[in-house]
Amino acid sequence: MESIAILGATGSIGKSSLDVISRYPDRFTVYAVTANSSVKKIAQAAKDSGAKVAVIADKELLGALQEELRAAGSTAEALAGSKAIDEIAANPEVDIVIGAIVGAAGISSTFKAAEAGKKLLLANKESVVCGGRILMDAIKASGAVLMPVDSEHNAIFQCLVGATKKARCEANIILTCSGGPFRQRQDLSDVTVEEATHHPNWSMGKKITVDSATLMNKGLEVIEARWLFDFEPERIQVVVHPQSVIHSMVQYADGVVIAQMGAPDMRNTIAYSLGFPERLDAGVEPLNFSKIKTLTFEEPDLKRFPQLGYAYDALKLGGAASIVLNAANEIGVEAFIQGKIGFTDIARLCHAMMYGFQPPTPTNLEEILETDKEARKLAQSWLEGFCDKLEN
Ligand code: NAD
Ligand code: MG
Repeated sequence: MESIAILGATGSIGKSSLDVISRYPDRFTVYAVTANSSVKKIAQAAKDSGAKVAVIADKELLGALQEELRAAGSTAEALAGSKAIDEIAANPEVDIVIGAIVGAAGISSTFKAAEAGKKLLLANKESVVCGGRILMDAIKASGAVLMPVDSEHNAIFQCLVGATKKARCEANIILTCSGGPFRQRQDLSDVTVEEATHHPNWSMGKKITVDSATLMNKGLEVIEARWLFDFEPERIQVVVHPQSVIHSMVQYADGVVIAQMGAPDMRNTIAYSLGFPERLDAGVEPLNFSKIKTLTFEEPDLKRFPQLGYAYDALKLGGAASIVLNAANEIGVEAFIQGKIGFTDIARLCHAMMYGFQPPTPTNLEEILETDKEARKLAQSWLEGFCDKLEN
C-alpha cells in the first residue's frame, strides 16, 4: 500500500486525483487532504477518501473544519496553517505527495516534499517556474522522484522514456498549445471575465483557465519544461494545436517525432504518474480517431499573446526574472477576475514588472519566497497607480 497526501484536494486536479485513487483501494490509501479555505469541501473529501488528516491553510478556520469533519462523519484529525501543509508534505507516513495547490502558494510544500525524498506528482507548475534549478537540485540531493502531472510535461516524459543521454541532449521539445478561447479573435481589449474563464477543451481551475487564454500558461510551461527536462530554451518550441489531442512531442536528431495523444482529461496524467512504469485505467474514454478526423497546427501569435514571449525572455534574463513574471501574472489575473483591470492589462503589468524590477538571484527556498513576496508588493502598487490613472 502506498500512502498519499493530496495538497489542494478540493481543486480541479485534486478532485481528479481522488477519483483515480478511489479506483485502486488495494494499492493506495489517502493519508491527508488539504485546501485553502473551503472547509465543507475538504471535510467531505476527507470522509470520502478515508483520510487520517485534513488541513486548511487559513488558521482562522480550524474550528469550522473540526465542526464540518464531525458533521460529515469523518474521524480525520484537523490541522490548520500553511506550516501544517508543509509538514504533511514531509511527513514520514506519506509516500506520495500530489502537489495540486494553485500558484506560488504551492512553492513551499513542493520544496518540503522534494527535500524529504518523496515521490512527488507535481501539477503546481508555479513552483518549478520559481524554484528552477534550486528545486531540481533539491530533488537530486534527496533522491525524490518527480513525476510531472501537467499534461504537456507528462507527455514529454512519456516521449523521452528509453531515450539515451545522447539522444536526449540532441532532441527538441515541441510543446502543444490549444491556443485558448481567443485564438481567432483579433481584438482582445474587451474580453470579459466570463469569456476568459471558459476553455474550449479543458475543464480547470479559474487561474490556469485565464492563463490559457493569455497564453501565459504556455509561457509558464516553457519555463517548466526547461527545468524539468534540462533542455535549453532554444530546444523548446511551441506549436498551436487547437484539438488538444497531441499533448506534446519530442523530435529526435534523426527527425523522428514521438507524440503522446489522449483525451483532454487530467486523470490520464495522474494515473500514469501513479502507476509508472505500469499503466493504470483511469476511467477515461479512449480516443476515437474517426470522430477526431483532423489534427491541425499553427504558429503562436506573440503580438496578441505577448506573455508567451515574456517567458522566453525571463529564461534569457535568468536570475529572479521568472519569479517576478509569475508573481506579476498572479496579481494581474486576480485583479482581472475581480474586474479591476482589463484582459490585456495583465500583459502590461507583467511587462512593467519583468523589465523594471530585477531583484538579486535567490539561492534557497527562503530567498525565493522573499523575492515572490517583494514582487507581489511591487506589482500591487503598480496596479494601484495604473487603476488611479484609469479612473482620472
Ligand atoms: P484549482 O483552483 O481548481 O484548485 C486549487 C487548489 O489549491 C484548491 O484545493 C485550493 O483550496 C488550494 N489552494 C489555493 N490557494 C491556496 C493557498 N494559499 N494555500 C493552500 N492551498 C491553496 O486549481 P487547479 O486547476 O486544480 O490547478 C492546480 C495546479 O495545477 C495549478 O498550479 C495549475 O497550473 C496546475 N495544473 C492544472 C491543470 C488542470 O487541468 N486543472 C492542468 C495542468 C496543471
Ligand atoms: Mg498544461
